[in-house]
Amino acid sequence: MKPAPFDYVRAESVSHAVATLAAAGSDGKIIAGGQSLMPMINFRLVKPSVLLDINAIPGLDQIEDLGGHLRLGALVRHRMTASDPVIARDIPVLHEAMKNVAHLTVRNRGTFCGSVCHADPAAEMPMMALLLDGIVRIAGPSGERSVSAAEFLTGSLTTVLEPDEMVTAIDILKPAANAGWGFAEFARRHGDYALAAVSVVLDRVEGLARNVRIAVMGVGEIASRIAPAEAALEGRTPDAAVIAEAVAALRSAVEPMSDLSASADYRRHLVGALAARVIAEAWERAA
Ligand code: FAD
Repeated sequence: MKPAPFDYVRAESVSHAVATLAAAGSDGKIIAGGQSLMPMINFRLVKPSVLLDINAIPGLDQIEDLGGHLRLGALVRHRMTASDPVIARDIPVLHEAMKNVAHLTVRNRGTFCGSVCHADPAAEMPMMALLLDGIVRIAGPSGERSVSAAEFLTGSLTTVLEPDEMVTAIDILKPAANAGWGFAEFARRHGDYALAAVSVVLDRVEGLARNVRIAVMGVGEIASRIAPAEAALEGRTPDAAVIAEAVAALRSAVEPMSDLSASADYRRHLVGALAARVIAEAWERAA
């Protein structure tokens, strides 16, 4: 299909972008990589009156190392996130997750921030933003605000972003240097959207798991942290029995949907099997 007609505006700065969105009312749409937006526009699922291209705004394509966390600008492509040496060294769980995102052409254009804004329940980036305590930095007509990724993502393809606001960057936490981590997903073909995925980061302190983070995707309206499974591991030694408890808590907490690819029961079973594997891997790596 062909898109409905729209005006094209190339933003020169964040303030220009925000002013253009405000002038467009609720009809403006930002395009970053266009990997999710353009199919929706071509199918006329989205019909913006103004397409606001942010690709020429200087300074948004940087990964900044701010000590305890990294700042990923709005034009940081998946390819950059996947190949950044600081991410590979300091946030290996994200480095591993990025290997599973789509295909080369999509990774060359798609952006981390665009994926979080798109809020697809089966996308890796929203899950990573949740796992790594992401803070979403937002510019709007009344200035800047920051919200946690958990507050930002409200459901499938929905966020708290107002129509006249733009995400300028997302800050993500660097886990402790010796933290253990694990990531696993199951997709029918490499690079496809996964049926389910699990990611874990934890510290090992005097034989006990601490600061346990577990995030999942593909098994609910949107990616989420699973607090009951985290609590089942926190302050304990993840032997087989404790991991089984955490997996049971995780399976009870998720609300998978049935679709053409898999039933809800299958997804619940799958996410538990992946969780058992990645918790054990994370514990091993933290040793
Ligand atoms: P765009 O498509 O440009 O925009 C997406 C949405 O976010 C739009 O609503 C847009 O208005 C909004 N937006 C973008 N940037 C901003 C901003 N800075 N501020 C406010 N709003 C903004 N993703 C995965 O995670 N895993 C996969 O396995 C995967 N496989 C794919 C396979 C194919 C064939 C394709 C085409 C895509 C796939 N994707 C996958 C999606 C891909 O990761 C997209 O790049 C990503 O979802 C969106 O990023 P983008 O920069 O392209 O955003």
